[in-house]
Amino acid sequence: MGKRFDALQFPGHKNKVFTLSYDDAVVQDRRLVELFNRYGVKATFNVGYGALGFKGSKSYHGNPPVDVSKVEVNELVSLYQGHEIGGHSLDHPDLSKIGLPQAMYQIIEDKVQLEKICQRPLEMFAYPFGTFNDQIKDLIAMAGYKGARTTRSTHGFDLPADCYELDPTCHHNDPELMSLAKRFVEDDGFKPMMFYVWGHGYEFDDRHNWNVIEELLEYISKHKEKIWFATNGEILSYYQAYKRLEYSGDGSLIYNPSCIDIEICTYPGVYETLKAGQITKIKETGLL
Ligand SMILES: [Zn+2]
Repeated sequence: MGKRFDALQFPGHKNKVFTLSYDDAVVQDRRLVELFNRYGVKATFNVGYGALGFKGSKSYHGNPPVDVSKVEVNELVSLYQGHEIGGHSLDHPDLSKIGLPQAMYQIIEDKVQLEKICQRPLEMFAYPFGTFNDQIKDLIAMAGYKGARTTRSTHGFDLPADCYELDPTCHHNDPELMSLAKRFVEDDGFKPMMFYVWGHGYEFDDRHNWNVIEELLEYISKHKEKIWFATNGEILSYYQAYKRLEYSGDGSLIYNPSCIDIEICTYPGVYETLKAGQITKIKETGLL
């Protein structure tokens, strides 16, 4: 039998996934969700339960104050419908500086309250201020989160090596945003690629640059035939199911013990769908 490989593919024989992550549940998310829905993209919105309903403004970098009010508790479910709600701690402290007991409380109380509203276990977390250490990572995992986002830009498209240090590709204000988008879209390999953009809704008002996100979404959505649009949690669930695949010694049989169908590419142009809960016999392919 010839050599084969099993490059992860996303649903629909696609090797690319695009996702967004926005923090703090600010009132500008209302406009942002409308934009995301118009272009058919999916995002994860990371919410600090304790700040919901807060009203106020703040000045950044000497600019005139910008509205940083938060959305109301009772609009969370309808506002973010079709997207994902993630955790962001109860009161947005620097979790690495408040001691473990309080960090534990901040993480779990936020999760418990949000889950009462969402009526499902939360999957994603974003570190407030992007700060964490090994103990905070452990707390996030123990709380039941599948992954947590940092604020470090990679300018790359690799799937995460560590789901609790999920580094985004870039912030939406990154001057390289559109050149990264083009590199992502124009790559014609079969290696799995993730383009992951993050930010805060209020930043568009602060910089008067809503056009930046609209230009990105317009460009990305034009190529939707080769890109999977998914929330952070959907991507991690899919990726983790892929990592659970079980192989026979000669590679001809693959068991998918998860409840998610997984697609792989075993040779350029040759795809297999590994059905959930089933053993799949892999088609023979030539030597690489
Ligand atoms: Zn935040």
